[in-house]
Amino acid sequence: MDCLFCKIIKGEIPSSKVYEDEKILAFNDINPEAKVHVLVIPKEHICCVDMVNKDNSHNVSYIFEKIPEIAKIAGITNGYRVITNCGEDACQSVKHLHFHILGGEKLPEHIR
Ligand code: AMP
Ligand code: ZN
Repeated sequence: MDCLFCKIIKGEIPSSKVYEDEKILAFNDINPEAKVHVLVIPKEHICCVDMVNKDNSHNVSYIFEKIPEIAKIAGITNGYRVITNCGEDACQSVKHLHFHILGGEKLPEHIR
């Protein structure tokens, strides 16, 4: 499957890793939109929020369990924003479910 983030998981494309375990990977966004901009992805390929169901939603709950730890590892101390884009109108550019963690500075009221 021609999926950029699956290739990053397999190590075929390099990434700046922040956290990894058997279920998820977190790495720095290549084009950061805040001082800290980390992407968290499940190792299981799920296209987007639209494709989350009762069989794969454990990935999403697990990611949210781990986000506080990942934010700390990334150096965030004063709050952060979590965003996921789904589909065309949201301008999702990589079709592998991912959560943006943005922080490390005061964010504008609206971002992305
Ligand atoms: P989205 O627009 O929500 O689909 O977000 C995709 C994100 O992936 C964007 O913020 C990109 O900057 C980021 N991105 C694309 N390619 C890479 C890469 N090779 N390594 C890290 N981040 C990437
Ligand atoms: Zn994928």
